[in-house]
Amino acid sequence: MNKLENSSDIENIVIIGSGPAGYTAAIYAARANLQPLLITGFSSGGIPGGQLMTTTFVENFPGFPDGVLGPELMDLMKAQAIRWGTKLVESDVISLDISKKPVEIYTIEKKIKSHSVIIATGASANKLGVINEDKYWSRGISACAICDGATPQFRDEELAVVGGGDSACEEAVYLTKYGSKVNLIVRSNKLRASAAMIDRVQANSKITIHWNTSVIEAIGDDWLQKIKVKSKDFISQELEVKGLFYAIGHTPNTSFLNNQIKLNENGYINCSGGRPETSEEGIFAAGDVADSEWRQGVTAAGSGCMAALAAERWLSEKDLASKIQRKNPDPDITNSSESEKEDANEENFDINSEWQRGSYALRKLYHESSKPILVIFSSPSCGPCHVLKPQLKRVINELKGEVQGIEIDIDKDQEIAKQAGINGTPTVQLFKDKLLKREWKGVKQRSEFKDAIRSLLNK
Ligand code: NDP
Repeated sequence: MNKLENSSDIENIVIIGSGPAGYTAAIYAARANLQPLLITGFSSGGIPGGQLMTTTFVENFPGFPDGVLGPELMDLMKAQAIRWGTKLVESDVISLDISKKPVEIYTIEKKIKSHSVIIATGASANKLGVINEDKYWSRGISACAICDGATPQFRDEELAVVGGGDSACEEAVYLTKYGSKVNLIVRSNKLRASAAMIDRVQANSKITIHWNTSVIEAIGDDWLQKIKVKSKDFISQELEVKGLFYAIGHTPNTSFLNNQIKLNENGYINCSGGRPETSEEGIFAAGDVADSEWRQGVTAAGSGCMAALAAERWLSEKDLASKIQRKNPDPDITNSSESEKEDANEENFDINSEWQRGSYALRKLYHESSKPILVIFSSPSCGPCHVLKPQLKRVINELKGEVQGIEIDIDKDQEIAKQAGINGTPTVQLFKDKLLKREWKGVKQRSEFKDAIRSLLNK
């Protein structure tokens, strides 16, 4: 280390990634008084919170006998990490320079230095690459049934899911809530999902399994109308589906490492013997980015714990740890779950409120408010909506009442969603003077919303 370098500018541990591995590592490091800094990730490599943000009920995470919604579980882990003093940076890591000691970590906004790093960046959903995939992406094709299933265009229509693992089975069952029939397209002659999940698929009369079958083309007008599939015996047929959902596995998020750390032949970080140490001293890995085999929430959490303990041990061996002294040995209890207000109605609607829910509020503000209105269309189990809502609330708060926010649950307010042309969640629309000024799909940086609102206010 450069002698002139101020040690207070150097982190003990930077954790990259905010899935179960990242947050568990943070909880352990924070309770060791190491005050870790966790970079959540934002748009590259999926969404903050990881793959559980796009899952409905997690039924195999110990401690939740009745199951827990994936996004809710991640909220709880995040709250626990923050409670013990984890610092969060909501950004993507662009690159690392491991040759520097301390290691240099670059996000879009800044450079961070750290003695040790835990990589917990997980893996991203794969695409099939069928003909017309780009054309119908978000216009019928999606990689997240749980996020987009409630979209009006899928209601009572025939749908298809590709894949044979737990995700595909879970999504097929989930989609039977909305579609008239679900075709499960499996490229081999077997499902590799867990036995409990297979039982559910087989017990569901709305699901038809197409064995030894692959999708080759998406066909439609401005929305997907059908897909061409081909069996192993080269027999092709068309399925009249309005929705095609991919659940075909994931690719580890390692591109930002730029080959500075040893990867295995499948692109996962090489850690030997199930240990968290990587090929580079002081750099540890946890969760799916280093695990092509087990890939469970609970194994990711376990490996996050190991990585934090190993990093703590390494820091103290090298005499690099700078521990904080807690004023309060027991931190305050957090209130992790965001309190959801009821929908606005005739009695409780407030024309000046910064954030309201439901179609009544939308109609009233649309006609009566002179301010810009930011509307988020969400659905109950949509993980990305979970990420985006607090971001939008922060934007509205920072703009000090100059803009108003409304949340529409497309499951409850189907008619409004249809009129607004919503074809996936989250979708955010910005209105001013009864005109739609901008629309965003998916999770975006706060600055994008802020800039668009400010430019409306300055006109
Ligand atoms: P998996 O890797 O387990 O399964 C991927 C599936 O997609 C396989 O059936 C594979 O076929 C198929 N596939 C891959 N590429 C293609 C392609 N190009 N064309 C057609 N099919 C393809 O991924 P999952 O996301 O399902 O699961 C990942 C992990 O997460 C697993 O460990 C799983 O148990 C876990 N999980 C747990 C859940 C829960 O407990 N609630 C929910 C979801 C996931 P093939 O079998 O022929 O290779």
